[in-house]
Parts: sequence; C-alpha cells; structure tokens
Amino acid sequence: MQKDNQVFDLIKKELERQRHGIELIASENFTSLQVMQAMGTVPTNKYAEGYPGKRYYGGCEVVDEIETLAIDRLKKIFNCSWANVQPHSGASANAAVFLAVMKAGEKFLGLDLSMGGHLTHGSPANFSGKTYQAIHYGVTKDGIVDYDQLEAKAKVEKPKMIICGASAYSRDWDYKRIRAIADEVGAIVFADIAHPAGLIAKGLLNDPFDHCHIVSSTTHKTLRGPRGGIIMLRHDFENPWGLKDPKGNLRMMSSLLDLAVFPGSQGGPLEHVIAAKAVSFGEILDESFTAYGKQIINNAQAMANAFVIRGYNLISNGTDNHLMLIDLRNKNLTGKKAQETLDKAHITLNKNAVPFDDKSPFVTSGIRVGVPAVTTRGMLEAHMETVVGFIDKVLLNADDEKIISETKLAVKEFMAQFPLYPELN
Ligand SMILES: *Cc1c(COP(=O)(O)O)cnc(C)c1O
Repeated sequence: MQKDNQVFDLIKKELERQRHGIELIASENFTSLQVMQAMGTVPTNKYAEGYPGKRYYGGCEVVDEIETLAIDRLKKIFNCSWANVQPHSGASANAAVFLAVMKAGEKFLGLDLSMGGHLTHGSPANFSGKTYQAIHYGVTKDGIVDYDQLEAKAKVEKPKMIICGASAYSRDWDYKRIRAIADEVGAIVFADIAHPAGLIAKGLLNDPFDHCHIVSSTTHKTLRGPRGGIIMLRHDFENPWGLKDPKGNLRMMSSLLDLAVFPGSQGGPLEHVIAAKAVSFGEILDESFTAYGKQIINNAQAMANAFVIRGYNLISNGTDNHLMLIDLRNKNLTGKKAQETLDKAHITLNKNAVPFDDKSPFVTSGIRVGVPAVTTRGMLEAHMETVVGFIDKVLLNADDEKIISETKLAVKEFMAQFPLYPELN
C-alpha cells in the first residue's frame, strides 16, 4: 500500500495548527512525544477482553504486563488500593460508575450543567439524565458551590449517589463536607476529578480520596496522558448499600466496578492506549510533574490578575486551579462571539455558560480559559500578561478584521518561542 497522504497531510496540518495557536481550552493539553509514540504501537492489534490474568483470549501475557504496570503506577500516584485503567474516556468511566452503583430510575445529585457540571452528571441529553433521576445543586451568586443547597436537597431527595466535580469550576471542593452530608442520608459519594486530577496528584488541591467512595478521571486533561478514563478507590469496601452484581451476588466495590467496565459497558480494552497511560503515569510520578502543577497554578493566578486589571469579571473573583470562567456581559460580548473572534486570531478557547446565564448554551455569556496546555509549552507568569493582552485586543476590536489578522501574526511569532514537538516534521 502507498502511504495515505490524504490523511497524513491532514495530520501534519493539525500539527501546524497546534504549533501556531495559543491553546487555552481548559480540558486540553499536549502529551509528551513518548506518550504519543506508545499510542501508535502493536498492542492496538490485540484483543484482551477481561483483566490481567483473567482474559477471554490467548496471547495476553504481554498486554497483561502492560496493563498491570499502568494500574500499579496509577495506584502509586493517588495512593489507592484499586484502579481500573480500561475506560475509553471520562464519559465511559462515569457510565461504568453509574452502572455499578445505580439501578435505572434511581436518584442522584450532581452539579447543574449550567453552573459548571458535566453532561454525565445528569444532562437530559445524556445517558445519566435519561436512565436515572437527576437532581441538581448549583453555585451561590458568588460562584461558589452552594453546600447549603446541596445539603438541603440531599435531605429532601435522599439520593443514592452524590457526584462532586465539574468541568467549569475554578474553585477547590470541600469533599469532607459533602461526605458528611452523604453519611447523613446514606448516599455514595462519587468524585469526578477529570479536570483537576493532575493538581490533586501532586497534593496541590484538596484530596478527594479519603472522603469520596469512588473517584473517576480522564487521563488527557491536567494528567497530560492519552485520551482516556480511569476509576479508582483508595479504600475498597464491601458495600453497605447492598449493591449486587448481575447474578445477584454481593460484591466488593472494586469487583462491581470492574464488572461495570467489562463486560458491563465496554468490550476489548485499548491496550495501546493503556500503554500510553502507563507512560504518562510514569511522568506524573516523576518529581518534575510537581513543578509543572505548581506552574499551572501560578500561571492561572497571573492570568486571572491580568484579566481583572483589564476590567474582566471573573466568576468567584478568581481561581484555585488551572482555569477561570469569565462573564463577558460588562464587555457587551457573548461567549459565542468571543470564541469565534479569538479563533480567527488563532487563540483557542470555548464559550461557556456562566452561573444564572440568561443566554442559550449555544450563545452563552462567558468563556472558559485554562492554562494546562500553555504551561506544557513552557509559558511562565510573564507570558500570561502577553496572552491576556492579545485576548483583550481582539475582544475590544471584535469587528476589526485588520487588527484581528495583525494579532494572528503576532500570536504566531510569539508561539515560535515555545516549540511543540520539534522532533516531528
Ligand atoms: C471532560 C470531562 C468528562 C468526560 O471526559 P471525556 O473523555 O470527554 O468523555 C467527564 N467529567 C468531567 C467533569 C469532565 O470535565
């Protein structure tokens, strides 16, 4: 076969796009070259339904070693007693948690999507909202999780499960308080740390593991691994909720979760991606990842200050983590307009609903801005000032094509200081 230039030319074009732009999508990052190299390898050819030592296919002895290594490294990162590295994505990990814990029609409590929550936390468009009865808590007018409302709703509704975690929330979580509320009503606490996991891994944010029964994450956001999901338990438990496997047997939570991933909701695992997860977990265990996490927080603080100085309105007035949510109403801009205009200058971020937004989710009043990707590229606090300068210039001149295209050139020149995958051409 000839090389498929049609596809590889497009991949090359995407590499150039990533090189030239400023990537501020809070859920994105750039993996190391090693992580990408591991993904493009032969375990992709292998069927390995089941788990190490208990597979449904022959010839799994090597992928067993790969998957066991990934599990062992992940357990070490979060000081866990059990982990599953097979979920294909964050949404798949969450689907398995639901399947392990909840029967169709049962109630759970999660953060409202319009206040920063995730689709899999009960959106009516998602399996979580269609299969189960979703009840939501929100944030206060100051933009902080409304723990009093969470408590009041938990007491009235008696949910089977309470989910904490978000996709667009810039503050840390009070996991201890949520657990205390859950204990009063007999609910399971499930923390979805898809966004801040890399900061939690290095002790830079509150640790959910001692307070939350089950923890899930993506691997491709602040953890900087390949696209994928994981589920973890610090302490396994014979669940006091009487949860049973499909045959009606009481099981340890770890075993219920394993069954919910496979065969419950997935088929064969992506062992080449699991190999890449193992590589990224090795990088996280290295001391240098602590410096990366600290730089993320310093950059987010510097960026938040730079926005505030220019009169931007930050939800909750700041950030504890890697992202910030900005209400653009005082700038007479919608999130949609801001996203589209910044895209033209090769500054990539996403429109986002702000709490109590009066605009539709397709328009929105805000933008979400995150620094994990630019921090990976080597930016420091002073560069955040430059980046916010570009953003402000574009937003203040959103209908001036000349200024936008000048900024695009300035962005390209600025990004040349931060080489991305110089080994690739
Ligand atoms: C990103 C995210 C997910 C889903 O991850 P995918 O890999 O896109 O399926 C789940 N939960 C939260 C809170 C997220 O931010």
